[in-house]
Amino acid sequence: MASRADLHTHSSFSDGLLSPTELIDLAYRHGVRVMALTDHDTIEGLPDAFAAAARYPDLTFIPGVEISTDVPGNEVHVLGHFIDWQDRKFQRRLLQMRQSRQRRARKMVDKLAALGKPVSWKHVQSLASDAAIGRPHIARALMEAGHIATFDEAFDLYIGRKGPAYVERERLAPAEVVEMIAAVNGLPTLAHPRELDGLEGLLSQLKAAGLVGMEVYYQDYSQEEVERLRAVADRFALIPLGGSDYHGLGGPREREPGDIPLPDEPVERLLALARERGSPQAV
Ligand SMILES: [Zn+2]
Ligand SMILES: [Zn+2]
Repeated sequence: MASRADLHTHSSFSDGLLSPTELIDLAYRHGVRVMALTDHDTIEGLPDAFAAAARYPDLTFIPGVEISTDVPGNEVHVLGHFIDWQDRKFQRRLLQMRQSRQRRARKMVDKLAALGKPVSWKHVQSLASDAAIGRPHIARALMEAGHIATFDEAFDLYIGRKGPAYVERERLAPAEVVEMIAAVNGLPTLAHPRELDGLEGLLSQLKAAGLVGMEVYYQDYSQEEVERLRAVADRFALIPLGGSDYHGLGGPREREPGDIPLPDEPVERLLALARERGSPQAV
């Protein structure tokens, strides 16, 4: 079932395939009229996205971001909608996160060289292109260099959590990121919560930090999963939101922009909340 809204998408400014303009054109063609761009740890695609969205007077474009955080044994992603993306301090913090990611990837490449599995750092960077550089790019470089036969071997043998070339990421607590988004007038939402253990404990903590929503309508979530998550969202007075998390890279779980059963009502609640907080894009 198609929705009028898609609150979770990625462009080539993080790990998506399409430019912000191509992405917005595609979403519009699919009938999306309320849309957020939520690239990983970057707002750099937003100027292009605003320019592209301005060509469609009946499209509400929401400036957004998705930030990765850590809990023991898992990653927790937090979305921020209606962020004041021009805030200098916020932009500096995102830049620091991206630089720390670069340093980490570089260290893994150095470790691989020491293990006798060299890959070129320049090549890893070019594989990442505009995207946030990470282990998938290193895995591809390892495969192209003939050190491994399959993508998964990279993780099993070298750069998985227990691998000899693994380097820890800079750890960020989810509550810290919820506060960081709220500090720039953004509306924080917990992304794709299905696989999270201890969801309720996490939610009470994040709710206290300023969380307003949780993704409930997402990619391949079944009707039962949607209903279960919707009940959890209701219990915590969180807006049940969602999105396709479209990257344009294909794969069995990929949905086209807007191809999620997100109803209008929670989207209207998000827009009303943004209006209340004086967000310039919430009209
Ligand atoms: Zn995510
Ligand atoms: Zn995402």
